[in-house]
Amino acid sequence: MNSENQLVERTGRAIPSIRGRNGFGGVRLGIGDDAAVIASGGGREWVLTCDQFLEGVHFLGGVHPADSVGYKALSRATSDIAAMGGTPRLFLLALAIPASRMGAWFGGFLRGMSRAARELGLRLAGGDTTKAPKVSINITVLGEIEPGLAVTRAGAQPGDIIYVSGRLGRAQLGLELVRRGLGGRAQFRELLRPHLYPQIQVKLGAWLAAHGVPSAMMDISDGLSTDLRRLCAASQVGARVYEEQVPVVTIPPFAAKCLRGRKVEALQMALHGGDDYGLLFTVAARNARRLARAPEFRDLTAIGEITKGRKILLVARDGGSKPLQPRGWDPFRRS
Ligand SMILES: [Mg+2]
Repeated sequence: MNSENQLVERTGRAIPSIRGRNGFGGVRLGIGDDAAVIASGGGREWVLTCDQFLEGVHFLGGVHPADSVGYKALSRATSDIAAMGGTPRLFLLALAIPASRMGAWFGGFLRGMSRAARELGLRLAGGDTTKAPKVSINITVLGEIEPGLAVTRAGAQPGDIIYVSGRLGRAQLGLELVRRGLGGRAQFRELLRPHLYPQIQVKLGAWLAAHGVPSAMMDISDGLSTDLRRLCAASQVGARVYEEQVPVVTIPPFAAKCLRGRKVEALQMALHGGDDYGLLFTVAARNARRLARAPEFRDLTAIGEITKGRKILLVARDGGSKPLQPRGWDPFRRS
């Protein structure tokens, strides 16, 4: 288990918490999944989550455009609602910001966040602001879902097919370009978009949940290798992922040239790169046909299957397999 998981475990043990499905106070699902699920009392359930986006940890003040910071902060928070199959409704914004960022920077930030809110169908319901030496954004998102339809990480069964949405590693490619100081170049604008303005799978998540297709689901925020391990742990199963089926980022030659000499292999980025916010879900083989009606069906790829036991294996083109090590984003990893 990596250390971010340990920190969450420890917090959940130390503070009185609602864990799993215990029904306390109308809470249908507590800590340990992408978001919590609460009975709203009005014939719907609430889906609740929060996310932090911090200068110096998740973005760089002098490098990332202000509108990207606003857009991404709200999008990544909302991704956990999509991961449950919920429909986003409203959010709370807790913002700490230095006085020097109150002018043009704040204007750009608001533009980006406003665009994300319109695209995601979200309304701001309140929040709090304060001054701090660095920008710190904390967002709580509330979504809604029909009772009982929220899809958790914990339903995958041996034999289920594993699917992902979108190409994996695209956000990582953008990050690699930014890291090398290439973020301002017009020729890279399209390649940077997934890193700066991630697209959240709200429609797909809601459709999958409404049609009861997935047995388990989560969003890929920290990288496939790390997030698949979390899904398998919650479902108490293993997995086999076929290398040649993983939809990897396309690196155009002009970008590859600029990144030459560095570790930027497309498969590695797809397996371990974070921030793509695609959906990772499992489907019983008998239900797989129903996926053909899903929105963005053509963006879905079967990458492997759920297995008995707890091993998570990557099967190479030659048929040989080795453990798929969790090498995605972990803020607490000792390097
Ligand atoms: Mg998540």
